[in-house]
Amino acid sequence: MKGKVVLVGAGPGDPGLITVKGLQMLTTCDVVVYDRLVSEELLKYVKKEAELIYAGKNLGESLSQSNINEILLNKAREGKLVVRLKGGDPYVFGRGEEECSFLHEKGIDCEVIPGVTSAIAAPAYAGIPVTSRWFSSGFAVLTGSKADGSSIDPDYIPKKGTLIIMMGITRVEEVKKALLQVRYPNEPVAIIERGTTPHQRVIECLLENLDICVKKNEISNPAVIVVGETVKLRNKLWNYNKIHGVED
Ligand code: SAH
Repeated sequence: MKGKVVLVGAGPGDPGLITVKGLQMLTTCDVVVYDRLVSEELLKYVKKEAELIYAGKNLGESLSQSNINEILLNKAREGKLVVRLKGGDPYVFGRGEEECSFLHEKGIDCEVIPGVTSAIAAPAYAGIPVTSRWFSSGFAVLTGSKADGSSIDPDYIPKKGTLIIMMGITRVEEVKKALLQVRYPNEPVAIIERGTTPHQRVIECLLENLDICVKKNEISNPAVIVVGETVKLRNKLWNYNKIHGVED
């Protein structure tokens, strides 16, 4: 039997947000290679005899990308059906494209099952829509820390609409500086920590106070920063506590 690798988006944290197709794949596969941001709850669905490999990204103890690639390759070459389970969506800052292209080069089949990205789901659970007919005609998802070690390139920042910044907490001063080159100091901001989990925390501030707010509230990863008018709709749409029994 020929093995293959399927990149599966695990969703943003709430295990209920994996897709039906992703869950089916999880229940039938022989090997799961999973990341730190993946809900442990999902691993309960894996067959008893399946092998679980943690490829987490805790500082200092993460497997390198080339290590992960080799594991996927070797397991597929053994004829296994391998699920590469990634937080959110595999192709939204998930390096899924690097893994899939590596495998294709080696002659291994690799498919993707998209996932619900935290870029949209964390704001949604916080009562913030990324678009609105009246307040935002579009949104941009940006990384706060690029592979070359730099922060946001202001050329990527649109003048209008909702901004969603991922991986922006550790470099929050640089993120704020870049944002202020294009956007206004008094724009509303929400920071959503551990969105869609029972530990979700939402902090609101103005863009000019973004860094102070992150420090003061000791916000840590994973968290997304949302900038723009739709943050204000939170007052009308907030319902996380009703659905999930968690207080704001
Ligand atoms: N592929 C993932 C993103 C991976 S990059 C996705 O589509 O969601 C990791 C970044 O995602 C984190 O630094 C954080 O900005 C964001 N993130 C992931 N899970 C999150 C969560 N539950 N709440 C808030 N932000 C989250």
